[in-house]
Amino acid sequence: MVQLPAVTIAADSIDKLRLLAPTTCVEVAEDANSGRDAPIRAPQGAADLSDCIHHAVVPGGGRIALLKTLQTSVCENNCSYCAFRRGRDFRRVSFSPDELARLFIQLYQKGIAKGIFLSSGVAGGGAKVQDRLIATAEVLRRRYSFTGYIHLKIMPGAERDQISAAMRLADRVSVNLEAPNHRHLDRLAPEKSFEEQLLLRLRWIEEIRREEPGHWPSSTTQFVVGGSDETDVELLSTTEYLYRQLGLARAYFSSFSPVPDTPLEHQPASPLLREHRLYQSSFLLRDYGFVVEDLPFNQTGNLPLDTDPKLAWAQRHLTDDPVELNTADRHTLLQVPGIGPVGANRILKERRRGHLRDLADLRRLGITATRLAPFVLLDGHRPAFQMSIWPLDRPSPVHGMPLAR
Ligand code: SF4
Repeated sequence: MVQLPAVTIAADSIDKLRLLAPTTCVEVAEDANSGRDAPIRAPQGAADLSDCIHHAVVPGGGRIALLKTLQTSVCENNCSYCAFRRGRDFRRVSFSPDELARLFIQLYQKGIAKGIFLSSGVAGGGAKVQDRLIATAEVLRRRYSFTGYIHLKIMPGAERDQISAAMRLADRVSVNLEAPNHRHLDRLAPEKSFEEQLLLRLRWIEEIRREEPGHWPSSTTQFVVGGSDETDVELLSTTEYLYRQLGLARAYFSSFSPVPDTPLEHQPASPLLREHRLYQSSFLLRDYGFVVEDLPFNQTGNLPLDTDPKLAWAQRHLTDDPVELNTADRHTLLQVPGIGPVGANRILKERRRGHLRDLADLRRLGITATRLAPFVLLDGHRPAFQMSIWPLDRPSPVHGMPLAR
């Protein structure tokens, strides 16, 4: 790692970061507790960067301080929900690749940021902007020998070779689909083409990974939830396709929130609880062996907001047909509320030592017995349990929303 002389970070660079911060906060960059990553207080001496640095859980599980920023807030597109859409009146700023790479390394060396999430407005076409993002990452990797975390956005219209180059530099790449299909994207981003400019890029990412086996970055996408009249079944059907066919690591759901002076400024914000139900459901699709048809959509194609989707499935399917925990396979164990991948593995391991006979055996494995008790058998018997004073789908004390498991 090349050490820069200990100089004060240029005030105009800090100003630029701060001008870019409000909108980059809206974009969910990496995993965090409830799907949203949280801005953090920057260390002393960098308090005015607190909106730009976020706690984020990166692939592999580590938690780092992540600088989220744009190469430029100049944009020629007119996405109807976006603060950076063309013609909107505010002060726009741009970083050159050298300037942004140097600024990040200064923040890194001061211990303020340990990784970078880099996106951009579209100025001069997606391919030109992609070149600048790649150039920034190249300066970080080659000139400064930075080996830490880089997440690069793949721009609409980026070329296949550029995607390959970005994937050789980054730990994660992402293409924001924004909507589950072209009909809804037309409403949100009339100048973007769902298939040609966006979905095709996610296909190329997966093709590149398959053509040349090796260590490639993971890929993600983001949907704007509630910006159009898209339904949960549309969002989750596309999510399922991306997980199964295109090797997506994670779909992010970002609740629509109206921005003044945009065409959607009078549209109501989408409830955060809807976003949370979508996350729960997407985890069921990705990690629990559920398919979209299993999810408890109502007649409008949306998930009920008042029920955890896994609990709703279990109430419908397991109440009269409980799962014998001593014989069920892993897939069936994962369908039981309260049993996640870790819990299922512990049950399978424990069964090799002997029978599970009561809820205390499960508690010893770290499994919340009250949640699963109505849906299981232990040695052929329904376990005796007392309903918690909390409802099964009780809110998490931390985030005010139930946790997925
Ligand atoms: S392309 Fe659309 S979403 Fe991206 S910065 Fe431009 S207006 Fe905003």
